[in-house]
Amino acid sequence: TLTVTGSINIDHVIRLPQFPRPGETLTGNDYRIVPGGKGANQAVAAARAGAVTQLVACVGEDPMAASLVAGFAADGINTSAIDTVAGVNTGVALIQVNDTGENTIALAAGANAALTPERLQSHASALHCKQLLLQLEIPLETNLAAARLARAEGARVVLNPAPAQALPAELLALVDLITPNETEAERLTGVAVNDEAGAAAAARALHQQGIATVIITLGARGVWLSEQGHGRRIPGFAVKAVDTTAAGDTFNGALVAALQRGQALEPAVRFAQAAAALSVTRPGAQTSVPYRAEIEALLEQ
Ligand code: ADP
Repeated sequence: TLTVTGSINIDHVIRLPQFPRPGETLTGNDYRIVPGGKGANQAVAAARAGAVTQLVACVGEDPMAASLVAGFAADGINTSAIDTVAGVNTGVALIQVNDTGENTIALAAGANAALTPERLQSHASALHCKQLLLQLEIPLETNLAAARLARAEGARVVLNPAPAQALPAELLALVDLITPNETEAERLTGVAVNDEAGAAAAARALHQQGIATVIITLGARGVWLSEQGHGRRIPGFAVKAVDTTAAGDTFNGALVAALQRGQALEPAVRFAQAAAALSVTRPGAQTSVPYRAEIEALLEQ
């Protein structure tokens, strides 16, 4: 199994001509409620990319939670380790997008904060997996506990260190493969990633923390792939971007799915970049995540 431990959010997305100032009320021109949360997005991406996937996560008691979980099951995800937490709401992201495509995001962790190390223990069997994929929208101690449990069972631990934050050496030492974007790589290492030299230096700093494989995603420019002592850029796919929400999540889910079926790192990166490129041509988070057949069709073009 490929196990994803992480967040589930309900994204409320409102499009406005510009952001309201403090105290101001502005009417937007479009509003949508879409399933999101990095854990959920990455699990959906892995499942649609063809991997047998389990999601360890929490939702609240609100009416939307059941339909979210039913959606994951419809994608073929094992939902048996998704807990419903009494007395809280499912995680929420209030997203404003302005006419130039910038966004502001206000998050409420809700049930995601209830995914504690103790709760994780009750799902320990889910961590007997081949690969564990983590992000940073659940408590840090839970990620540490998950990485320890999975590592002890011989799993590969993959960390997408998003949203950007500095991390303890203790967690980084448990990671086999890390996938920061440019901002996240700079936050982790203090090295600005503005060009390939910066990416190489940031990757070296992460190798020094004990991480064998570093993939820094560079948006439309592709990725910097670095294995101990050897780094190179792998370009992405040229597409017309309409909404880059969840590009990183799609990349991560598809990457681990390809690795899960035994692909080597470089072809797995190409598969993941094809998946992410397809996702940026479509609006929304989980709504934009492609399926394996579409990804393979793009790769064969
Ligand atoms: P994040 O969404 O986490 O900030 P990136 O912006 O680096 O991550 O995007 C992740 C991956 O998605 C990139 O490495 C690339 O393969 C793909 N991608 C992102 N933006 C584009 C784009 N405009 N065109 C093609 N591929 C893209």
